[in-house]
Amino acid sequence: MTQKKNKPIRKNYLIFGSPRVEEAEINEVVDTLRSGWISTGPKVARFEEMFRKYMGTRYAMALHSCTAGLHLAMIVSGLGRGDEIITTPMTFAATANVITHIGAKPVFVDIDKRSMNIDPNLIEKSITKRTRAIIPVHFAGRPCDMDAIMSIAKKHHLLVITDAAHAIETVYKGQRAGNIGDITVFSFYVTKNVCTGEGGMVTTNNKDWAEKVQMYGLHGMSKGAWHRYSDKGFKHYQVVFPGYKYNMMDIQAALGIHQLKRINKYHKIREKIWKKYDQAFQELPLIIPAPAEKDTIHARHLYTPLLDIDKIGISRDAFQQALHNENIGTGIHFVALHLHPYYANTFGFKRGDFPNAEFVSDRTISLPLSAKLTEEDTDDVINAVKKIAEKHYI
Ligand SMILES: *Cc1c(COP(=O)(O)O)cnc(C)c1O
Repeated sequence: MTQKKNKPIRKNYLIFGSPRVEEAEINEVVDTLRSGWISTGPKVARFEEMFRKYMGTRYAMALHSCTAGLHLAMIVSGLGRGDEIITTPMTFAATANVITHIGAKPVFVDIDKRSMNIDPNLIEKSITKRTRAIIPVHFAGRPCDMDAIMSIAKKHHLLVITDAAHAIETVYKGQRAGNIGDITVFSFYVTKNVCTGEGGMVTTNNKDWAEKVQMYGLHGMSKGAWHRYSDKGFKHYQVVFPGYKYNMMDIQAALGIHQLKRINKYHKIREKIWKKYDQAFQELPLIIPAPAEKDTIHARHLYTPLLDIDKIGISRDAFQQALHNENIGTGIHFVALHLHPYYANTFGFKRGDFPNAEFVSDRTISLPLSAKLTEEDTDDVINAVKKIAEKHYI
């Protein structure tokens, strides 16, 4: 008997995380190019002001990535060599990479399986004399238990620098993500909820840190150095710190200005897709994401069901490959960081250290959740997941 060749659910490939980009930002980018002011300038200032208002913070500084923002957040708040910084292993590499960039040591604390966020009940056990900060990550846009984290931080005099790469729309007990803790950093990377191609934003209510982020992100030149070629006439700048080249360009801000205007519209679209997935996957060997916690808004950045590998006959990676064969692109958020060679080899982490993170790491698969998806696209995702699950269910 010859085996029938698989006919994919879709003809064309559904790219994971492909952003929705509309005419307004395309025109704004073209306008930027024609204006002659392409790099950091008036549009970055406008985007910063829009974002600051949206977050309700005193300060918002745009940079070329969230990674750059996390790096600067640690420098301006005085963290450095020999410090221990607590974070989650269920995050993107950048969160912990920047800790090593300043010569500090990442200390992972296991997650809560339900929320997939750092488990506050396990934090205090990991605090030592050298602990200086906690970096919570609002995984997939679900806020961490910030009351618990803030009270631990207060008790032990720790800074709270939040990685809010997934969490622009996140609200925790009436507070937006940017307004909790000491410094918060957002990402506008291409797959994120607001996209500028590459981009990031730092928010804080601390004036000194805000000014330093701006200066250190542009070579450490004194305040407002980008003005020096404007029609107000050349102004001398002074180098006050050997800074970095982390500034955002107006071309990027041109995208952000219009993306940010549509943030609620896009959030609603992803909310709808989320509900549709939740309903469709009830009967399948998938553990669907937990509902949003009371008094919170989930930013719906990633839809990350866990594949119930005890009930289905294939591994997560095989499941992902099968979706690929159906022309559905997916992501993995994340392979737990302590299992990556650099972290395992440098800090001696091994499998077994963070069982909840490993549980998620082995089973998680991110399905497409972009505001760009059509009804047909999401039907294709559902049908492909069903097709594979039914074939392998044991
Ligand atoms: C995307 C992401 C980052 C990095 O964002 P960039 O803007 O690409 O630097 C950091 N942390 C998390 C959790 C992310 O998902």
